[in-house]
Amino acid sequence: MVEQQLRARGIASEAVLAAMARLPREPFVPAELQASAYSDEALPIPAGQSISQPYMVGRMTELLDPRPGKRILEVGTGSGYQAAVLATIGCRVTSIERKTALAEAASVRIAALGLGGLVRIEVGDGSLGRPGEPPFDGIVVTAAAPRVPPALPDQLADGGRLVAPIGRRDHQELILLVRGPQGWARYDCGPCVFVPLVGEGGFREEMPRRWLGRVL
Ligand code: SAM
Repeated sequence: MVEQQLRARGIASEAVLAAMARLPREPFVPAELQASAYSDEALPIPAGQSISQPYMVGRMTELLDPRPGKRILEVGTGSGYQAAVLATIGCRVTSIERKTALAEAASVRIAALGLGGLVRIEVGDGSLGRPGEPPFDGIVVTAAAPRVPPALPDQLADGGRLVAPIGRRDHQELILLVRGPQGWARYDCGPCVFVPLVGEGGFREEMPRRWLGRVL
């Protein structure tokens, strides 16, 4: 996975490559999909959600420029894999998930891997971020939003980086915001497809009525 899917496609951060080589994916993947744990695709997890393709996790992690001790906010815990990759690098992670069952399962998994001291998982609307906390060195949104959730950029420290898929429900652009002394610089980092961010700063509902029954 690391050589063929990550390094070969341009992931160059040795910290990211080493963390993803060390961290097993099996605990994050449903029992019936164990044979696909390292395959080059997103996989379904309970509650109609997904664990992202390994390459996308590597790309988003690298864009955050993670270092030991950095404070990272993740919006969308899902399986907990992205949070565990960041913790394996040594980051201190707060991860917010709106679905209680997913948050609980991810928390158990992360504790079993010995990473519980670096990861705090909360249930809530992560599209609002974590106002009132000290600013974060990085924010990674792992669900698709129609625009950068307005509450999040202000929660970045100076030099902090925000990575998020922004666009329509069926297709987004991965964007990177970097906070500097004069404001935020925005970079487009390529196309992607994520499940929707549902909440105040995301899409307002799970699936619009007009989409029901649509053949994709
Ligand atoms: N990072 C995850 C992983 O490593 O498995 C994958 C995340 S999955 C693609 C997106 C997650 O975002 C889903 O679990 C979904 O329930 C969650 N989500 C959607 N809207 C949310 C919100 N407003 N706040 C927190 N989590 C949200």
